Amino acid sequence: MDYDVLIVGGGPAGLSCAAQLPVGMRCLIVHQDKEIGRPVRTSGGSWVCDLQNIGVPPEFYQTINEIEIRSDNQRSLHHMRNHKMAVLDITGLYQWLAGHARRAGAEIWTGAKFLTTLQGADGFFTSEIRLSGNESRSVRSKYIVDASGTPRAVMQSLGLGARAQRVGVGIEYEYEIEEAQKDRASLFVGAPVLQGYGWIFPAPKNHIRIGVGVIQPDTDVSPRDIIDPLLTPEFLQSYGLKLGDRIQVNAGIIPSEPFEKKVVFGRAIRVGDSANVATPTVGEGIRLAIELGGHLGQCLKDCHLIGADFPLKAYERQATRRFQWQYKFGFWANQKIAAYGPEDWDKSIARVARLDEAQLAALIRCELTPSRMINAAFNQLKSKLQRA
Ligand SMILES: Cc1cc2nc3c(=O)[nH]c(=O)nc-3n(C[C@H](O)[C@H](O)[C@H](O)COP(=O)(O)OP(=O)(O)OC[C@H]3O[C@@H](n4cnc5c(N)ncnc54)[C@H](O)[C@@H]3O)c2cc1C
Repeated sequence: MDYDVLIVGGGPAGLSCAAQLPVGMRCLIVHQDKEIGRPVRTSGGSWVCDLQNIGVPPEFYQTINEIEIRSDNQRSLHHMRNHKMAVLDITGLYQWLAGHARRAGAEIWTGAKFLTTLQGADGFFTSEIRLSGNESRSVRSKYIVDASGTPRAVMQSLGLGARAQRVGVGIEYEYEIEEAQKDRASLFVGAPVLQGYGWIFPAPKNHIRIGVGVIQPDTDVSPRDIIDPLLTPEFLQSYGLKLGDRIQVNAGIIPSEPFEKKVVFGRAIRVGDSANVATPTVGEGIRLAIELGGHLGQCLKDCHLIGADFPLKAYERQATRRFQWQYKFGFWANQKIAAYGPEDWDKSIARVARLDEAQLAALIRCELTPSRMINAAFNQLKSKLQRA
């Protein structure tokens, strides 16, 4: 079977890439799960402005007007007027993205696991795919896109990259809401979740997600061992929560390693978590996977139109420009806070409480430009002097 592009992984990166390809370009997405967007492996925090920019219908997200961050003894509450967060209906969004990919002509095989690939002397890749029922297929393609997320299945098969050694591991319980403030997202740090953080995200359909994530091997504690003892009546009451039935358990893994600027290896290309694009500050990667996936799709379309591969250089340049410097700062912060104790967290949240809305959004989004950092440091100093 011959295709122009084989995309491994039907997550936001792979689906957004396929949606940009022209109908004449034969594209196959292989996705190991039985369904797109299920099981859920992420918690779906995002930003209204980014979702509006890509035209995501509002029924796929819950708008968040307040962000609260708590440590053991500090609390900072931010009213977000211009930088509103959103919490996504992941299954709904990913299936909506799959609809766009199909309309652009992509074939999607679900329950289809990519096993290996080899590049022949003619430059084409021959990939082995296992279908449900243990049947297997060989697929030939001119380009191969690794959108498999943390496993980096294609990169590993071609010997171009290993599985991440340092990873964020998270688990989240999703409930029906009986009582909660539905426009407030809370993050919590400190003693209960050292080497990580926890979150409470009101989601669409009257759901709420409570989760924790840690960085391994910085800690060998599993997030499941943290979340079960955490959810006491006192904890829920302190957040004004009354929970209904538990709907599902969501769990996943993301790389937590420095950004690597090499994303194009001839005609094998990586995108999304496979290229390590989730933010090093909070591990937010959905909007970035969609953005970078879309850009890769446009570059592949250009390759097809002009019959050459050099447009892929533009994709690599854009990824470097977008992430390299910001993620350097972000990863430095990631390593520093992974070693924080409860007192460091209290001091840190007291500083966060002094950030304005735009600075907080920039911190969470890992948009840490030098001018923003100087500004924030200046404001901290000013408020310290005023208090003195
Ligand atoms: C616990 C947790 C919480 C998170 N919270 C947020 C958040 O709040 N907001 C946010 O923006 N981001 C969050 N992220 C990060 C976000 O989920 C990722 O950055 C994003 O999903 C990356 O998209 P992707 O398409 O690159 O990879 P994925 O979403 O991982 O999609 C890749 C797909 O490829 C499939 N696949 C893998 N190997 C194969 C194979 N061999 N053959 C076929 N298919 C394969 C997988 O089943 C998977 O579905 C979180 C991650 C975790 C783990």
